[in-house]
Amino acid sequence: MGRLNIYTVLSGTTENWTVTKMDRDFEVEDTYYVSKHVSVCSCFAGSKSTCRHRQLVDIFSAENKIDSREAYDFDKKRWVPRPKAAMEP
Ligand SMILES: [Zn+2]
Repeated sequence: MGRLNIYTVLSGTTENWTVTKMDRDFEVEDTYYVSKHVSVCSCFAGSKSTCRHRQLVDIFSAENKIDSREAYDFDKKRWVPRPKAAMEP
């Protein structure tokens, strides 16, 4: 079974967006922090010019889905609705 790469973006703090990577049950696996002021992310590629987390912030922002109950499958490029029973990140 392939690994699922689904993410959600939360408005976080005045400093950072919060990008959470979740498993297929919407349980949080990893959390990354993307600066709202400079192009920096807390992941291993954070000092490069971009990374998937910064792309995710752009995708969520463009579709007004920040803080929504939807997640985004980065590999399949599709939105994934959160199951009703799943917990909030
Ligand atoms: Zn990143």
